[in-house]
Amino acid sequence: MDLKNIEWDKLDFSYRYVPYRFHAHWKDGSWDEGKLVTENKIAIDEGATTLHYGQQIFEGMKAQMSKDGRILLFKPHENARRFQKSAQRLLMAEVPEELFMKGITETIKANKEYVPPYGYGASLYIRPFLIGMGENLGVRPAPEYLFCVFVSPVGPYFKEGFKPISLKVETFFDRCAAHGIGAAKAGGNYSASLLPLKYAREEGFNDVVYLDPIEHKYFEESGVANVFFVFKDSTLATPKSVSILDSIIRRSLVQVAQEDFDLTVEERRIHVDEISEMAEAGACGTAAVITPVGSLGYNGKIYRFYADGKEAGPITNKLYKHLSALHVGDIEDTRGWLEEVK
Ligand SMILES: *Cc1c(COP(=O)(O)O)cnc(C)c1O
Repeated sequence: MDLKNIEWDKLDFSYRYVPYRFHAHWKDGSWDEGKLVTENKIAIDEGATTLHYGQQIFEGMKAQMSKDGRILLFKPHENARRFQKSAQRLLMAEVPEELFMKGITETIKANKEYVPPYGYGASLYIRPFLIGMGENLGVRPAPEYLFCVFVSPVGPYFKEGFKPISLKVETFFDRCAAHGIGAAKAGGNYSASLLPLKYAREEGFNDVVYLDPIEHKYFEESGVANVFFVFKDSTLATPKSVSILDSIIRRSLVQVAQEDFDLTVEERRIHVDEISEMAEAGACGTAAVITPVGSLGYNGKIYRFYADGKEAGPITNKLYKHLSALHVGDIEDTRGWLEEVK
């Protein structure tokens, strides 16, 4: 990719080849030190567990440039720890926190010309992943693992800007089983979500919000993001469940809502029948930080929130502005959430 041809304001959220990525191998009980490579193809045994039995996990992070030109990461150690939890659930070799951080920082530094400058809403998306490799046939944990980190400059997740989306409340399909791998950032959860997403899009929705897999009564999360709701009394609530992915942005949003905006926040089971009490809704995750949700479609009815679902609600809006400003260092980072890549 020729740097001269990058139009930072026109980037979309798609893969772009940049020169370096990081690979580390695990074999016979230990990790090698890992190194930067330029080849973006991976040669893999045909029987590898990642290909047949879904032994695959990943993370998603962003590096952003501050106004004064520093490259900032948002809570990267939380991603490192979640990566280990995901590995535990899929019985994969855990990547030590130091190796995870090394992989990320070395990849960013080697590609630092590709970190979009401040002011475009763009970022360097970081994709660490771990796959089971090695010769294999039967169902068992892999004899070898590969930890990789690649990066790609991306524009804002939603090109149209901070516009509300519509979600279909999914009453048939589940994203994961109640005590399955929903809490792990595993590719399998995403493959399960593709078909429901296709159907929802055909019905005119942007995305899906799943219900709990046991009773189909309580909100879980969207396919790629956690969700939150602002009730008419200004209480912010976010679903509590063992089968959702513990979003780092959601945890940050909860803290910011309580500490910086004095909102009452509840992490609890949220019944679908509470839709009528909701004034605003949003989805949250690293890619978009917050995406306002303007309407929910449930059992053939459309429930519209603030401004008839055409604009983000005021609370969603101020949380978004605050969190986005925190990410790029525009607001003072009093909690030590930012880490500079030097
Ligand atoms: C990654 C992910 C999220 C968002 O997590 P963040 O840590 O906030 O980026 C939410 N739900 C699912 C299913 C995810 O995979």
